[in-house]
Amino acid sequence: MVVAIDGPAGAGKSTVAKKVAEKIGALYLDTGAMYRAFTLYVLKNEVSLDNLTMIKHTLDNFELSITEDKVSVNGDDVTTAIREADVTANVSYISSLGFVRKKMVELQREMGKNKAIVVEGRDIGTVVFPDTPYKFYLDADIEERAKRRLNDEKIQKNVKNILQIKQTIKNRDIYDSSRTISPLKKADDAVYIDSTDKTVEEVCTFIINSIHEKTARSSWT
Ligand code: C5P
Repeated sequence: MVVAIDGPAGAGKSTVAKKVAEKIGALYLDTGAMYRAFTLYVLKNEVSLDNLTMIKHTLDNFELSITEDKVSVNGDDVTTAIREADVTANVSYISSLGFVRKKMVELQREMGKNKAIVVEGRDIGTVVFPDTPYKFYLDADIEERAKRRLNDEKIQKNVKNILQIKQTIKNRDIYDSSRTISPLKKADDAVYIDSTDKTVEEVCTFIINSIHEKTARSSWT
């Protein structure tokens, strides 16, 4: 059973996905953390971002371990480092590369095999697990998303003010939704949730109720 939660930056996907996973006894997978981990690895190895051959070579040597609370690359704990500003600034470019996505999607499908798992990202309902009936697209207005990011202690130290955050989020959304391969978009059969005026608890309850409803409906047919 896969629950797919997609949506733009700062919409609250991580918080909600983690809570839903906990409540339904499923695992939680943050696919953004995977793209961030590879971006950090490319930057750490000082690979030029124009050099696709070197980026490919770097991908061949990239060994990722990801659990609900720890991300490691080739044995190094990078859980905090992947949230840093230089990673955020380059992750959309790195994740637009087809060969990078191919490897990540393979890993994600492998991790979702024979498990109950809540997976959050940008292309989970459209590309990674298109057959799951449990798809949600979590959104919120840009002001609210910027406010939430400002309060997010993981990245707080990287930012100067709310205007700057708003611009960073906007740029990332534009890049992510306009790329050719697996752009950020709502799957046709995903449930759209506007979380602007909703609490985390309300969004989680809504998602869990939808899962139960869909499960009950499918057992009738
Ligand atoms: O979720 P988070 O904001 O940490 O994701 C970082 C970036 O990783 C996104 O802006 C996007 O470029 C990329 N991403 C992606 N596909 C996913 C998850 C994240 O392209 N499934």
